[in-house]
Amino acid sequence: MKVLLLLGFVAVALAEVTRFDGEKVYRLRPKTDEHVAIIKELAGNIEVDFWSPEGAEQVVVSSEVDMHVDAAHTDIVSTLLQQSEMEHEVLVEDLQAYVEDQLDNQETKAYNYMKYNSWDKIEAWISSMASSNPSLISTQVIGTTFEGRAMTVMKIGKQSSSTKPAIFLDCGIHAREWISPAFCQWFVKEAVETYGSDAQMTSLLDQMDVIVLPVFNIDGYAYTWSNNRMWRKTRSRRSGSSCIGADPNRNFDAGWCTTGASSNPCSDTYCGSKPEFEVEVKAVGEYIRRNLFTIKAFLTVHFYFQVVVFPYFYFFQVGAPHREVVQVGEGAAGGLGSLFGPRYTRGPGGTTIFPAAGGFDDWAFDLGGKYFYTFEVGDTGRFGFLLPGSQIKPPWGGAMVAVKYISAHVVGNLF
Ligand SMILES: [Zn+2]
Repeated sequence: MKVLLLLGFVAVALAEVTRFDGEKVYRLRPKTDEHVAIIKELAGNIEVDFWSPEGAEQVVVSSEVDMHVDAAHTDIVSTLLQQSEMEHEVLVEDLQAYVEDQLDNQETKAYNYMKYNSWDKIEAWISSMASSNPSLISTQVIGTTFEGRAMTVMKIGKQSSSTKPAIFLDCGIHAREWISPAFCQWFVKEAVETYGSDAQMTSLLDQMDVIVLPVFNIDGYAYTWSNNRMWRKTRSRRSGSSCIGADPNRNFDAGWCTTGASSNPCSDTYCGSKPEFEVEVKAVGEYIRRNLFTIKAFLTVHFYFQVVVFPYFYFFQVGAPHREVVQVGEGAAGGLGSLFGPRYTRGPGGTTIFPAAGGFDDWAFDLGGKYFYTFEVGDTGRFGFLLPGSQIKPPWGGAMVAVKYISAHVVGNLF
């Protein structure tokens, strides 16, 4: 295993940094079955990187499809779109320029909340936050990633001699959604700085613990910094395939690989060889199972739609969600909508955004976690995953509004 890991690191170190010169992102609006068929056929013939929805299997009539195409195929795609009279626009003209612009405020080398931070910086930040706030923060390693990095959760709350109920907040399950880990870090900072002065935060941390997993998919996140900014999956290797990684948010045991997921190891929505095959998913799964009696709510942050969704994602025909869960989700989304405009929508994931099986949310919900909210925070989508670092604050603000709203409800309805 050690040799394998060592070889893995050497391979990563030697690999070239992926550039995106001349690559485009199209926004398509398929209006007919024929349009949908064209998109799916395209995805079957050339390498298409779906930004939204997350895979060809989720494309349906009247959806909005953001699709990243490499430079060698942009002419062919443009011609095809024109010939088919499919409504479309070029969202990103030259992806490499966006990748560079995203680091527009990276002038300082030090850790800084107002910019994106690499995994090494986040790891050091976790230790320093815990050691400088011992009365509010404790840490626990819950597992090790495929490439050997420690997965640490930060438990934030007023110390208590008895076990307190908890909220589990995770960020960065998809490697390229950089806003998400940035939010988790900011949440921890806000919690520490406003405990004792902000009534809502103080009440939350007095009565509950917030267990923060700052980056779920650490290997993938590190890879987006070192090699390929557009990487989404884990970095696991498997025998019999040269393709790397699986989608951790398709690898949980909830309708596993039945819808909105791919069994092709090369796909970005690959569900993995079996549920919890990915070591990161297994580590989180085991932690949740061990702590299920204390964890009362789950909040998970993605990027870049503007939605608040709740289970189910895979099981959307029947099993209407609990009315209270819907109302709380609507309240959170309503608050967000008033701040950020009417683009914010809410509802069960499967019908509100797209069906997707094997997600963390559905799995935890099936296990008995009543409140599970998935936030997709973002701007209007103009930058896709590449929102410049200088503009990350509004999406965070949105996530904070939603987290506080839902936490307040959970605190008020604990028993
Ligand atoms: Zn995501």
